[in-house]
Amino acid sequence: MAEKLFHFLKNLKIGRSLKVRLFVIIFLMGIIPSIIIRAVILENYEDRAVEVRISDVQTQLRIIANHLIIYNYLQDNSSEVIGAELEQLSNFYSGRMLIINGNLRVVRDTYGISEGKTIISEEVIQCMKGVSTAHYDAVNGFIEITIPIIETVSAQMATEELPEGTEIVRGVMLTSVSTDSIAMTLEILNRKALIIECIMIFCILAIALFLAQILIRPFDRVSRSISEIKEGYTEDPISVPDYLETEHIVDAFNSVLQRMKVLDDSRQEFVANVSHELKTPITSVKVLAESLLVQQDAPADLYREFMKDISEEIEREDKIINDLLALVKLDRSVAQLKISVVNINGLAEIILKRLRPIARKNNVEVVLISKREVSAEVDEVKMSLILTNLVENAIKYNREQGTVEVTLDADHQFFTVQVADTGIGIPEDCMAQIYERFYRVDKSHSREIGGTGLGLAITKNAVLLHRGSIKVESREGEGTAFTVKIPLTRALK
Ligand code: ADP
Repeated sequence: MAEKLFHFLKNLKIGRSLKVRLFVIIFLMGIIPSIIIRAVILENYEDRAVEVRISDVQTQLRIIANHLIIYNYLQDNSSEVIGAELEQLSNFYSGRMLIINGNLRVVRDTYGISEGKTIISEEVIQCMKGVSTAHYDAVNGFIEITIPIIETVSAQMATEELPEGTEIVRGVMLTSVSTDSIAMTLEILNRKALIIECIMIFCILAIALFLAQILIRPFDRVSRSISEIKEGYTEDPISVPDYLETEHIVDAFNSVLQRMKVLDDSRQEFVANVSHELKTPITSVKVLAESLLVQQDAPADLYREFMKDISEEIEREDKIINDLLALVKLDRSVAQLKISVVNINGLAEIILKRLRPIARKNNVEVVLISKREVSAEVDEVKMSLILTNLVENAIKYNREQGTVEVTLDADHQFFTVQVADTGIGIPEDCMAQIYERFYRVDKSHSREIGGTGLGLAITKNAVLLHRGSIKVESREGEGTAFTVKIPLTRALK
């Protein structure tokens, strides 16, 4: 039941509010000590009051016990002085007094009920042995006290068995005194404490509400600032330095915001680049077609030449679109890698065979150096993309009579493919950008040789999908070497 209630409260929206929790904690921390203090003080008061009452009554009883011996009351209870003393005391403490002699017979009862009766109770028998007792009955509201009536042997009475100074218990005084007055004081104190407690509860309630409101304010500010950004009023970073916690949240949010801005900027730049790249061949086609159209009787040779140019431009457009599609596919296909065990040497041979005609056209020699047989768990199509792009670039950006060396090696964890050429190289300051989409070191040269600026972006994406790395070393005018390192198995990270 209690567990269900706890779950219910936990699932309640209000129970998940930090403000409500803070309020409850502050309120409880204020109220619980005050309740405990009240209970302890009242309890202590009761104990102390009973102690004082017992000690007072005992002192009075001892004095009377002396008088009882002096007046020989246990043998003759006719003394009026003693009778008056007993009456006065029992009235004063609203109690009852019984004088019991050595035979356990009641000599005097201030209520007049038990005179002549014999009393055999534990306390009386204990008291006959000289031990006085006191017992507080909180439920019925009285204290029962026994006091021994002791006679000290005087010089005249002294015998050999009972030397002078010996104390003899002659009887017992059994007294019960009411504690109504203590209970009444306790009641008054309790009422006053309750009033003070109510005032305190009210004050603590107000303080708890106020503190919860104040303490939570920085968090409200954080969510307000985030909402403003969400609704587009501002793009500035948020700052709420009131607490370390809010500062951490805000810092994290600002860095996410920063990242989103970078992503958004690069997306916009990408769209602008795509539009520009796609527009260029179309513009060329349009210009070529229009210039043919304005000429009334253009010769067939001119037509053929222009149509060849138009066809090249369309081919280029097709290449850009294909590369873009490959890139988009790679961006979305983290989970879609078709992993199989591929013989990398075989794959490299097939690719080089396919690219050799182009290399021959450019007077470039392509060689494959297999340092060992490599079989790895990779996506074959994406692996071909990597190799094709790198080798194609090494051919495209080579010099006449240049060479391309594809070196294959592996250790127990990774395999490496190095594509080294003897071409034009990449300037030092352009190295960082070559993997960016549409980036080309020399735009016009790249365009001339059919580059789209997407090849290395595709390559890097494919390498990262395989949890691999790619690095480049290059010297302008001497050549470039790309090294790709990929884990042999998918289990490796
Ligand atoms: P592209 O389609 O223009 O070749 P890439 O993304 O493949 O686009 O390459 C980006 C740029 O990096 C190229 O334009 C070229 O300037 C430079 N580059 C790439 N590979 C090489 C290389 N092997 N030698 C010299 N420059 C290279």
